[in-house]
Amino acid sequence: MASSATLTPLSHHLLINGELVLGSGAPETVLNPATGETLAHVHEASAEQVEAAIIAAHEAFSSWSRTTPQQRSVCLLAIADVIERNADSLARLEALNCGKPLHLARQDDLSAAVDVFRFFAGAVRCQSGQLSGEYIPGYTSMVRRDPIGVIASIAPWNYPLMMAAWKIAPALAAGNTLVFKPSEHTPLSILALAPMLNTVLPAGVLNIVCGGGEGVGSHLVGHPKVRMVSLTGDIVTGQKILQSAAKTLKRTHLELGGKAPVIVCNDADLQAVIDGVRSYGYYNAGQDCTAACRIYAQAGIHDRLVAELGDAVSSLRFARKRDEDNELGPLISARQRDRVASFVERALGQPHIERVTGAVVHSGPGFYYQPTLLAGCRQNDEIVQREVFGPVVTVTRFDQLEQAVDWANDSEYGLASSVWTQNLDKAMQVAARLQYGCTWINSHFMLASEMPHGGMKRSGYGKDLSSDSLQDYSVVRHIMARHGNALD
Ligand code: NAD
Repeated sequence: MASSATLTPLSHHLLINGELVLGSGAPETVLNPATGETLAHVHEASAEQVEAAIIAAHEAFSSWSRTTPQQRSVCLLAIADVIERNADSLARLEALNCGKPLHLARQDDLSAAVDVFRFFAGAVRCQSGQLSGEYIPGYTSMVRRDPIGVIASIAPWNYPLMMAAWKIAPALAAGNTLVFKPSEHTPLSILALAPMLNTVLPAGVLNIVCGGGEGVGSHLVGHPKVRMVSLTGDIVTGQKILQSAAKTLKRTHLELGGKAPVIVCNDADLQAVIDGVRSYGYYNAGQDCTAACRIYAQAGIHDRLVAELGDAVSSLRFARKRDEDNELGPLISARQRDRVASFVERALGQPHIERVTGAVVHSGPGFYYQPTLLAGCRQNDEIVQREVFGPVVTVTRFDQLEQAVDWANDSEYGLASSVWTQNLDKAMQVAARLQYGCTWINSHFMLASEMPHGGMKRSGYGKDLSSDSLQDYSVVRHIMARHGNALD
C-alpha cells in the first residue's frame, strides 16, 4: 500500500470516510505565532460531519480490526515513509503554525514522528503475553489482545505532528479505528498529511476533524459509539472528559500537564546541569509537559548554579531573522504569552523571589516571552506549584536531600523528573522514591519510542510510546475451550 502522493501545502480539507471535505462549521483563524499574522481560516467540522466521521470509523472497525498485525504494520511503515518523504514541507508547516525554529522542527519533531510509526509497525508484530494452558483440567485457556473500537484522539498544540503520531500509530497498530482532532490552534500539518494518509489507509479507518474542544471535542467524547478517548492536554480538560466519559463508561487515556522537578545535589557536574536546563527548561519555549522547570539546588552548589545558569539562559537566542540562529520560538498565542507573563508578575510580587534574567514580554512582533530564571522561590509559591507552560524556570534552595525529595513529590503533577549527582547510589535511591512517570539521572527530556511515557497523579494515566501503549489501546480477553480429557 505504498503511497507516492506528495504534500499539498495549506490543505484545509478534513478526512471523513475516505473523502477530503471542507469543514462546514464555523471558520477558525490559524495564526503564525512568530508574527501574529493569519495563516489560514480552517472551517470546523459541523455536528453532521463529526457524526459522519464517527459512523465511518464505527463501520470501518469491522474489517480493520480483523486485519493481521502484518497488514497493519505495512500501512504504518507506508505512513512513516510518506512523512519522511515530505518531512521538509511538513516541518515548514509545523514551524509556521507553531512558530518553532524550522531546523528544530525538521530535526526533532519530524524524525520523532517517523520513528514512532516505524516502532509500532514492528512492535505490533512481536507482542508477548501469558501462556495458553489447561489451568482447569479439560479446558484450555488462552488470552487474546483485541482492539477496543472507535477511539477519539484529541491532541494539543505544542508538538502537533508528533502528538498525532503518538496517538494514531499505537491505536491503528492495535486494530482500532479513529477520529482524530488536532488542536484548533495547530491543524495545518495533519491536514496537509491527510490526503496522503488517505492513500495508505482504507476509508473510515482514520478520520480527521477540526474544531474547538467544547464543540467538536465534546461531541466526540459524548458519543456512544466512541469506545475510548485519548487526550493529551490540560488537567481541567482531562477532568471534563472524565465526567462526560463516565456517562457511557468509556475508557480514557489521559496525558495531562507536568511540573518537572530537577534535583541538583552538591556533587553534580555543574556544567552538565547548566547545559541541560538551558536546553530542556526552555526547549519549545517551555511549552513541554516534561520541561525542566522546577529546580531544587542544594546549598553547596546553589549560588554558583543560579549565577551561571542566569548567564546561560540570557544567552538563549530567539526572534532572530535567520532560522538557524534561533534556539526557541514564541508562545502559541497572545493569550498563552499573557498567562505566562501574569504568573511571573505574581511571582515577582513576592519579596523573596529574585529575577535572575528575563521576566519581560519581548518587544516586536509575535508572541515571544524572554527566557526567564527566578531564584529564591519557596515550595508553596504558586510559581513552584503550578504549570506555567512557558520559558520560565524556578530555583529553590535545599539543605538535606530528604527535603528535596519530599518537595519534589509535594506536587499535583507526576509526569517527569530528574536528579543530578555524580554518586550513582544516591541517584538510584532518589529515582526510586520520586513519584513521577519518568526520572532521568544526569539528564532530562530524552525520550525513546521503545520506552513508556506517561504520568502519575494529576498528570494522568496511560502510556504513550512503547509496547505499554499498545496494551492501553487494546483489551485482554480470555478464550476458554472445553475439550475434556478423553481421546475418544
Ligand atoms: P487543552 O487541554 O486546552 O487542549 C487539548 C485538546 O483538548 C485540544 O484539541 C482542545 O481542543 C481539546 N479540548 C479542550 N476542551 C475540551 C473538551 N471539553 N472536550 C474535548 N476536547 C477538549 O491543552 P493545550 O492548551 O492544547 O495543551 C497544553 C496542555 O497539554 C498542557 O497542560 C500540557 O502540559 C499538556 N500536555 C501534556 C503532554 C503529556 O504528554 N502529558 C504533552 C503535551 C502537552
